[in-house]
Amino acid sequence: MASSSYSNPPCAACKFLRRKCLPDCVFAPYFPPEEPQKFANVHKIFGASNVSKLLNEVLPHQREDAVNSLAYEAEARMKDPVYGCVGAISVLQRQVIRLQKELDATNADLMRHACNEMASNTALPGTNPGQNYSGSPRGSSRYSENNPGYYYPSNYNPWSGGPSGDHDQGGGSSV
Ligand SMILES: [Zn+2]
Repeated sequence: MASSSYSNPPCAACKFLRRKCLPDCVFAPYFPPEEPQKFANVHKIFGASNVSKLLNEVLPHQREDAVNSLAYEAEARMKDPVYGCVGAISVLQRQVIRLQKELDATNADLMRHACNEMASNTALPGTNPGQNYSGSPRGSSRYSENNPGYYYPSNYNPWSGGPSGDHDQGGGSSV
C-alpha cells in the first residue's frame, strides 16, 4: 500500500470501484473509507454513476443529507427488496393508527369510569350534590375542547369541584 501515494487513503467509493481517488472526488466527503458498506449498498441499489450525477445536481450543503437518505433507502431496499423503506413507513403508520385507536378506547373507558363514579357519588346519602355537580360540566367540557386526545392524570377529580379542580394542569403550584 505504501507504493505510490499513501497521503490519503481512497474513499470507500473509489476503493470499491478500484480507481484512484482524486482530490476533487465527489464521493470522498460522504463515503469515508471506514464505512465501506455504505457505498456498497448505495452502489448496488442506485449505481455509482447515478449517485455521482445526483450529487452534482444537488447543492453542496445538501449533499450530505442526500447521501444519508440514499444510504438509508439503499439499506432498507437491501433488507426488503419489494417495499424498501416504504415497508418500514407503512408498518409505523399502522402502528400509529392502532395506538391512536387504543388511546381513544382507553380515554373513553376512563371517561365512562369517571361518569359512573360521579353518578354513584351523587347517589350516596350525606354527600353534597351541589358541590359535586359544580365541578363536572366544566371538567368535561374542558376535556373535550382543549384536550381531545388527553385524559387528566389520576389526581384530577372532575367531580370534586372547588379550587382543587383548577390546578390539575399546573402540577401543584399552590398560592
Ligand atoms: Zn474517491
